[in-house]
Amino acid sequence: MSFFDNLKDIYRKVSEVENAVYNGKQDYLEIYERNLQLEKEIEERTRELNIANKRMLTLQHIWDMMNASRPLQSVLETIVNNIQGELGYLHCNIIKKCEDEKGIYLTVLAQSNDPSIKRVDKLIKTPIQARKLSYNKDSVYAKAAAERKIMLTPDIGGTLKSVAPDVSDDTIDEIVDGSPSKAIITVPLYSRNIHYGWFNVFSSRRELTTGETEFLTIFAQQIEMAITIADLFEEVKSQAVTDSLTGLYNRRYFEEYLKKEVTRALRQHQPFSIIGLDLDHLKQINDKYGHAYGDLAIKTVAEVLKGNARSIDTAARMGGEEFNVILPGVDSNGAMIAAERIRKALEEQKLDTIGHITASIGVATFLEHSDNIEDILDLTDQAMYQSKRNGRNQVTLAKPITETSWQEIAVNTFMDILSKHNIPLDNELSKELKAKLQIPKSEVHKEALYTVADMLTQTYNPLHHTGVMKSKVLLAVSLAKRFDLPKDDIDKLRIAMLLYDIGNLMLPVELLQKTTPLTEEERNHIKEHPLIAAREILQPISYIQDIIPIIEHHHENWDGSGYPSKISGEAIPMTSQIILIVDAYFALTEPRTYRAELTPKQAIEVIKKDAGKKWNSALVQEFISLIDHDI
Ligand code: GH3
Ligand code: MG
Repeated sequence: MSFFDNLKDIYRKVSEVENAVYNGKQDYLEIYERNLQLEKEIEERTRELNIANKRMLTLQHIWDMMNASRPLQSVLETIVNNIQGELGYLHCNIIKKCEDEKGIYLTVLAQSNDPSIKRVDKLIKTPIQARKLSYNKDSVYAKAAAERKIMLTPDIGGTLKSVAPDVSDDTIDEIVDGSPSKAIITVPLYSRNIHYGWFNVFSSRRELTTGETEFLTIFAQQIEMAITIADLFEEVKSQAVTDSLTGLYNRRYFEEYLKKEVTRALRQHQPFSIIGLDLDHLKQINDKYGHAYGDLAIKTVAEVLKGNARSIDTAARMGGEEFNVILPGVDSNGAMIAAERIRKALEEQKLDTIGHITASIGVATFLEHSDNIEDILDLTDQAMYQSKRNGRNQVTLAKPITETSWQEIAVNTFMDILSKHNIPLDNELSKELKAKLQIPKSEVHKEALYTVADMLTQTYNPLHHTGVMKSKVLLAVSLAKRFDLPKDDIDKLRIAMLLYDIGNLMLPVELLQKTTPLTEEERNHIKEHPLIAAREILQPISYIQDIIPIIEHHHENWDGSGYPSKISGEAIPMTSQIILIVDAYFALTEPRTYRAELTPKQAIEVIKKDAGKKWNSALVQEFISLIDHDI
């Protein structure tokens, strides 16, 4: 090679090196600038966040939250939606660590509403938020909690698999391949120094800068504060005995006090009476004059009750516009006089703008109408509704229970089912259930019925909790009363509520407890078979023939898309419609082997979506107002 060639070669190499250095510098500059920009952005967000944090700390803000006008979940949702989109965060969520008898599991308390989670939910069928997620001791979550520090993992697939092991590897690959997320950053959360859960962001970057860590820490503090305040508020609320609007005792206190009164009355063989009062047409007052005047009407009732009660009487606001007064030692004659005095005193009040208001009243007496306190509360309610039906602004005394009670019919039905031996039930369990039902005292009967129904349900659904059946029946009855169903229908509804799922006893256990999604065929079997089985089980029992159609129609939808007869609208018995909605609500709020339970709020959202389709809109409206009452 000539000298010149050599020189050329050297020049070429030098320029190559120069180019490489230049390009490298460009890259470096780009990264440097990007980081600079990111740091600036972080600085700005941190400053904003600090301001927001200070605002959070103002009493007004905390007070707003404590007033439960914004439940914890909605506060957390605002927080995660605020951070999503910042600093290239594609998705954010807050996971809570929970524990039950089977161990630790996780649930998503709040998540940002963004396209990435919608895509994941679609691919994994059961949405992440509806799942009971697994807790794995080797996961990034466990490590972050153990070390109490923010952690980043690029292993999105592995993390997803650790919380949802049932999702197939193929699906996980599909999720990861199509996702712009590069890493999960997880921040452990603490409430009053106890580990609570995690705040996670799905980042479009694989690195975590110091500024970003600081930014996320501040955000986590906001979340921790919201959680702690909500916890404290729950604590305070659960200890409260008075109602903030009226100063009367609340439902919790009333129920505690009532228990003591029952014990006292039984010991001393002395009656006591209950006056149940419901404002007339409060809705119209709200609609016409506004909520503040509705509140004024409620406060006026409270004042009248306070002014007309003896010092030993206990008046309580049970919720909404419903009040109860306990009159110790007073028989039904005395209670009717007291109730009439209250009615009249209320009618005579003249309120600002609204003018006069009235109330419908029911009266029942313990040891006179029944020696079972739940019956007394039911009877008070029924008498109050009678006052409404007869034109409102009046007092009605409860009617003593004379005819065969629904409890007796239900007890006999269960005894018949258990004795006929045509259901696949373990002999020992069958004996135990029969023994529970044979206790002759009427007041034990109702509880025994709920327990027996709970225990039967547990044979095919081990996740079913004892006590749920009672809540279900009571909710169904409250709903029926809102629609003024006659007593006879309400009694049938109670029996149908205890029996509507009895056909499940005939399903193979493996099918009911499958943890993986069901096949089409299996789903159809689970759908239709129990109705056929229920008819077969109940048909031989002559005295409950009128219950069978109620049960048979409890899967019909308002728009005719249900089964088995595809009837629609008013053609579906109201009692069947009530079973369908109550059953759906409890199914959603109970855990299943394949998903976690929804919160009441989430369940209501699901139910709302099908108003006018699956259920009558009026029914949904009443149902929501009933549930809102309780949450
Ligand atoms: P009825 O005579 O049949 O009892 O009619 P109503 O309108 O009083 O009864 P309904 O059960 O249809 O409606 C009750 C209304 O009471 C609906 C609810 O918004 C309202 N309400 C419940 N609690 C409160 C409250 O604390 N303040 C106000 N302003 N309204 C309330
Ligand atoms: Mg009312």
